Amino acid sequence: MVEKTMGVISKLPVNQILSAIIENGLELNASFIHLEPINDLIRVKYRVDGDLINGPEISKKRLDSLNDKIKKMANIQIGYIDLMSGGKFKYSHNDQEFSIRVYIMPTINGEKITLKIQSDMPVAATLRELGFWGNGLDVMNQAINLNSGLILVTGPGDSGKSKTMASLLESIINHSVSIATLEDPVEYKISRATQTQINHRTNLSFLNGIKILLKQDADIIMLSELANSDSIIEALDIVSHKKLVVSSLNVESSVEAITKLLDYNISPSSLAYGLRVIINQRLVRKLCPNCKQYVTPDKTSLHKINQLFDLNNANNMRYVHDQEVKYYEHVSTENKKLIPKSLSTSENKLKKIWTNDPSGCSKCYNTGFVGRIAVVEILKNSPEIERLIMTKSRDILINKQAVREGMVNYLVDGLLKVLVGMTSIDEIIGLTKSNYLT
Ligand SMILES: [Zn+2]
Repeated sequence: MVEKTMGVISKLPVNQILSAIIENGLELNASFIHLEPINDLIRVKYRVDGDLINGPEISKKRLDSLNDKIKKMANIQIGYIDLMSGGKFKYSHNDQEFSIRVYIMPTINGEKITLKIQSDMPVAATLRELGFWGNGLDVMNQAINLNSGLILVTGPGDSGKSKTMASLLESIINHSVSIATLEDPVEYKISRATQTQINHRTNLSFLNGIKILLKQDADIIMLSELANSDSIIEALDIVSHKKLVVSSLNVESSVEAITKLLDYNISPSSLAYGLRVIINQRLVRKLCPNCKQYVTPDKTSLHKINQLFDLNNANNMRYVHDQEVKYYEHVSTENKKLIPKSLSTSENKLKKIWTNDPSGCSKCYNTGFVGRIAVVEILKNSPEIERLIMTKSRDILINKQAVREGMVNYLVDGLLKVLVGMTSIDEIIGLTKSNYLT
């Protein structure tokens, strides 16, 4: 864990303390800043790439003035706190605009404030940069450019679903379509969409919002999450109006998304005919390009890989090798120079893997990692999968059929990203302990 301190800042004027805290967070590319009053200190912590990093400690004597300053900036009435909605202020740093959302929780030690940092710039990352490639990426690009259907992005919390949805909407080719979103909360600016924040106080719920958007003649509607059966039924109803819907679901796998939707008692035929593609993803830490290492795997790493992927099985080994070949075929369409002289695998052997330098370097704060990348699986609907949905088939059968039709399981995608130098095997093992290669 990185210890990033700013020395003794307790004695500075309150606005300087606050800008030091915020600017340090922006430099670290933090998504949240926590200000925790504990005993006689305010402990500052930064959420960076999923981990909490310790920041400076400030004398608790400054808590009231610091919190009052934040509330004033966020337009929150001092003495009156709307805990659920908090407040928001703008912050400029290095010519970039940020929105900082403020959430307050009273604790026995005083108010704990959490700042959520969002860039006001549109999502800069392309789907390719987020971790999508090859056939899966082609499937996504085809689906987002259709006139109607349901595209689902799935995964647990903090798996990068919102960023993928935003990046998907940015990759719509047709400029004569109307794109609208209903989000709770709005996470990323999307350059071509009109974005709406759900607001329960003004009765702007998902259901009411959908009704308005249909009247407003929207072609493509993004709903940030399908949280309950009402919103799922409504989403499929929009699809039946010949619209394209992009939304997310908090489930562990593409196939689980289908079985969960069927559990909600929606009609199997409306799902079977409406569904276009399900994207499932997780985030793993990305190897620092400055200090990553290409090594012959030692016994421990080989054992871990075999436990998860059973590469002693010749079919599995060949499958993984084929995926590595496909990956570089895909990359070569962009830039032939990216193809290495020799691959990490042969048809019957795992030869090399990439890994993190345990002591890291100055560019990665000695962690060996910089940023995160998604490991992904993309399930494309097909006549055979439609039939399995209609007959409410077991998830294992749907999964088998999807793999037969070219879906690469997200763990295999993860292993591939170890072979081509994007992440380490421990990051992939950290995602699950189950053997899911089919
Ligand atoms: Zn490094």
